[in-house]
Amino acid sequence: MMNRKLWDVAIIGAGPAGSTAAWHLADKGIDVLVLDKHTFPRTKPCGGALSNKVRRFLPFSLDSLEGDDIYGAEFSYKGRDAFKIMMDARIAKLVHRGRFDHLLLELSTSRGACFVPEEKVVDIRRRDDRLILTTSKGSIFAARVLIGADGPRGVSARYLNPGHTVPMGVALEEETRLDALAGRSWVSLDFGRFPWGYGWIFPKRGNASVGCGAIPKRKKISLKNEFERMKQDFNLVSGKGKGWLLPYFGDFAYKRADRQVLLVGDAARFVDPFLGEGIYYALASGTFAAESVVKTLDKGVDMSSLYQSLIQSEIIEELTHAVRMAEFVYPRIKLGFYALKRSERLGRLYVDVMSGKLPYKRFNEELFRAIKDTGVRKLKKLIFA
Ligand SMILES: Cc1cc2nc3c(=O)[nH]c(=O)nc-3n(C[C@H](O)[C@H](O)[C@H](O)COP(=O)(O)OP(=O)(O)OC[C@H]3O[C@@H](n4cnc5c(N)ncnc54)[C@H](O)[C@@H]3O)c2cc1C
Repeated sequence: MMNRKLWDVAIIGAGPAGSTAAWHLADKGIDVLVLDKHTFPRTKPCGGALSNKVRRFLPFSLDSLEGDDIYGAEFSYKGRDAFKIMMDARIAKLVHRGRFDHLLLELSTSRGACFVPEEKVVDIRRRDDRLILTTSKGSIFAARVLIGADGPRGVSARYLNPGHTVPMGVALEEETRLDALAGRSWVSLDFGRFPWGYGWIFPKRGNASVGCGAIPKRKKISLKNEFERMKQDFNLVSGKGKGWLLPYFGDFAYKRADRQVLLVGDAARFVDPFLGEGIYYALASGTFAAESVVKTLDKGVDMSSLYQSLIQSEIIEELTHAVRMAEFVYPRIKLGFYALKRSERLGRLYVDVMSGKLPYKRFNEELFRAIKDTGVRKLKKLIFA
């Protein structure tokens, strides 16, 4: 079916990145269409951890969201040597992703965005300065601008990066009923067994999100077996963990914009390669994409350069420091773990990074200064003595 309307903006994907962009655009009176292959609310496997920095881009207060307030973290190395760091103020809120995403989408439609569910976009083409989207049902939509918010390896990411074999991490996650965790105000993070990643146990109102993320290509292991071992170490009943792709920001060429197409969220690979945080970057990039469209549509100004400059200063610089941290710490994860355990100051600074209070740049400066002052060999002696 040919839908003849020419939309100002079409967005593929109604996750946090797409819905945030839609909300801002609709709010400014721009004619915006959102397509998703699912009906909403939909299930989304996720720890659901919102760090405090999301407040800058959330259209409602973090306090108003249903979820668990988190004040600290318990760290362990292969299930052992656990230590806990608790802060006076909340460091994160754990939300149910299905409900959170639905709330954002409802806000965008309440401002006038048009949402069409169950339309999986399978093809994007440019024709006479229009972008023509075809779905698996044969529906056709036309727009002047496209925002690709359809996650990693989605049709829009492939449109801007044809033939690019983008490296991916892998996550296993399951939601388990865990009454023992109800009311717990910290998360558990287990390091040392998942290459370039960690295992997590996040309390969620009597349930728990239990999972692990890793970049298995860096070291060959059976992620499933290691995940089972982790669950045994934490006395968790084995559930049915499902596997998911985990994109991450890396030091590789990747196109995020052209004159009519902008990629946001996971489609733009805006996921912290150290912590795996992606929701904040989805909200931020959705906001910047909308701002770029609002400021350039019908004004003869280049949308792509405005978007590139916004994401460069607000997202890419921070994620580049996260890459530096991941590249330094993950190959020496045992040293990193025991350094956090031994140095209360470093441990608290790290929790400040998790909460979004401290940027990676400042944490890295502290870390590298400590190493320079002490020397790696001496540091190892101090830590492992
Ligand atoms: C197991 C796991 C745990 C995580 N835990 C956390 C966490 O605790 N905190 C955190 O900050 N981040 C976490 N993340 C990362 C976070 O989930 C993502 O970064 C975030 O969802 C990105 O939002 P998005 O809007 O870009 O994409 P998504 O939320 O994935 O939304 C993409 C949407 O596009 C739709 N879509 C896809 N293809 C098409 C198509 N062809 N046509 C139409 N629609 C399409 C999908 O149905 C989906 O609704 C986790 C990720 C995983 C896998």
